[in-house]
Formats: sequence, C-alpha cells, structure tokens
Amino acid sequence: MTDPILKIENVSKRFTRWPGMAERLVGKITGGGKPVTVHALSDVTLHVSQGEVLGIVGESGCGKSTLGRVVAGIYAPSDGSVTLKGDPIVREHGNRIDKLTTQVQMIHQDPFASLNPRMKVGETLAEGPRYHRIIPSGKVREGMRELLEKVGLEGAYADRLPHQFSGGQRQRVAIARALAMKPEVLVLDEAVASLDVSIQAQVLNLFMDLRRDLGLTALFISHDLSVVRHVCDRVAIMYLGRLVELAPADELYADPKHPYTAALFASVPTVGTGKRKFEAIKGEIPSPINPPPGCAFHPRCPLAGPRCRVEAPRLTGAGPARTVACHLNDGGVDTKAETAA
Ligand code: SF4
Repeated sequence: MTDPILKIENVSKRFTRWPGMAERLVGKITGGGKPVTVHALSDVTLHVSQGEVLGIVGESGCGKSTLGRVVAGIYAPSDGSVTLKGDPIVREHGNRIDKLTTQVQMIHQDPFASLNPRMKVGETLAEGPRYHRIIPSGKVREGMRELLEKVGLEGAYADRLPHQFSGGQRQRVAIARALAMKPEVLVLDEAVASLDVSIQAQVLNLFMDLRRDLGLTALFISHDLSVVRHVCDRVAIMYLGRLVELAPADELYADPKHPYTAALFASVPTVGTGKRKFEAIKGEIPSPINPPPGCAFHPRCPLAGPRCRVEAPRLTGAGPARTVACHLNDGGVDTKAETAA
C-alpha cells in the first residue's frame, strides 16, 4: 500500500437527543426524560491510498453512512480526526461545522432528492465550481457540457430539469456534479442501490472507467457484497459502529475470518451450485444507545465464549494486509484458556 492520502484516525461519533419540556415533566414522575446518546461510530481507524477504492460494508445501522458523512465533512467527529493529505476535513466552532476542503465529494443513494428540481442540471453542475472559482467563469458552461459527455450524457442535456432524466441518468448527473469540484476523494453512499440491476451495471462500469481515467480515490459504501467485490480493492466490515474486519477484497471473499463477515456472506442467497447454504444472520442488531458489553457481536455469534461477553476484542493482524477484531484471532474465546495461557 502506498502512503495514504485519507486518514481516518480513532473516529467516534455520538448523537445526543435532549428531551423536550413535556418529556422532562413526565420524566419527573416516571424517572425518564434523560438525554439519549446514540454511539454511531466507535474508535474507527482507516487509511486510504491514492487511487484506492475502499468498500465499507455492514447491515443497516452499522454506522457506514455516518462514517461517509464524517469523511465528507457533513458531520464533525466527536473524537478522533479525518485528514486529507495531512489537512483536517472539518473545523468545529460550537454548533457550526466548517468544511475546510472541496476535495471530498459525496454521491448519495437518491439522486432525485439530491438535485434541485427547479434548476437546470447545467446550472446545478456549475454552482460549486463557479462559487469556489475552480473553473474560469467564461469557461464554466463549456466545461459543464464536457463533463456531461464524460459521464455518458449529451452536452445539450445541460438545459434539462432533473425530472426529464431517468434514474440512471440522474445518478450520472450526480457523479458529474461531484467531479465538477475536481475532488481527490469520492464518497459513494449506496450510490447504485436505488437503480435497476441492468442500470446499476452501467453506472458501475462508468465509475470504473472514471476511476481508471482520473485516478479516483473512493469510499464505496454498500450493503451489496457482489457490487463491492466488483469495484473495491479492500473491504472494511462494520458492526454496530465498529470496524470488525479489514482485508483485500480477494482475500476477504475467499476466506472471511470474522464470524460476522462469514455470517454476512452466508446470508446472501446464491443461484446455481447449491454448495453454499443460505442462512439469515440470527437475532437483531443491538441498540447503539446501549451496546452490549464485551464483543458487540456476542449476542448473535455462534462461536461466542465467556471472554467475548466481558472483553471487547481489538483489531489484530490476521495476515500481511488484514486485521480482524475477534478473540478467535487473539488467544481464544474461553476466559479460562486465556488465563492458563
Ligand atoms: Fe464471536 Fe467472540 Fe469473535 Fe465476538 S470475539 S465475533 S463473540 S468469537
């Protein structure tokens, strides 16, 4: 791995909801009415190299979208830092968050919701580059038409409104808008999840072409393991706000080491050979308001032992380029066995 350009260091993110007046009054009688804190991310460290595409995978509620928003500078981390080429992504002043760079751009799941329905797409694309003076003002219109062509649309579409595009075309516009800012890093948050499978393939192929031509670095957030395998160099698996496994994509798919990763793969139905049995992950994902002690996966893990219920596993090396947070990888799940050792 070359020197990382994006460094996510020990990032935690908590959201606190303060009770309203009525809840506080009722709380005086019932004993409730206290602030509620959601632990969306806990101590996440990831480094991403120039030109690398890192997949972020996990069930709904695992914190992957929160991580994407922290990297994109939409949320400030509660603890830790995110830096791009050594410079912080955000600065926080009380309740205000200043995003310090335009070099990280985000592409969302629903392109229709992320485009202004009353603005022609050419104007939408030009807004950021014009404001930040990324392109000389006399060349903005021409530049936006070229950008539309680069993402497989006609330059003349710059005069159309978002509702005049299909879903796949709108996602191409969203990609063009992100590229208009000449970013170093793209954050794609379930960017093809709302598209039909055939359109997904077209948009993914476009992303792969752009990645090759522009040397893009990206965080690719998805719950779809087959899509992630297709586009990512390495994959980070998250569970309840924590990183549980990080590995090159080929190694992870050939041999998942963490029981949660294995359960994720087993829960994907496959067509054909019948070699792998489809099995849904047992139990519910625990509440991030009150995460379980020890390993957060222990209430659902078929291999959990006494140690798992009291001691949180740390990420430890499981190969030259992979890490796993599981006691099976650091001395065993049995407390007695560990003590005897
Ligand atoms: Fe399962 Fe224990 Fe490993 Fe957690 S630490 S994944 S509970 S075996």
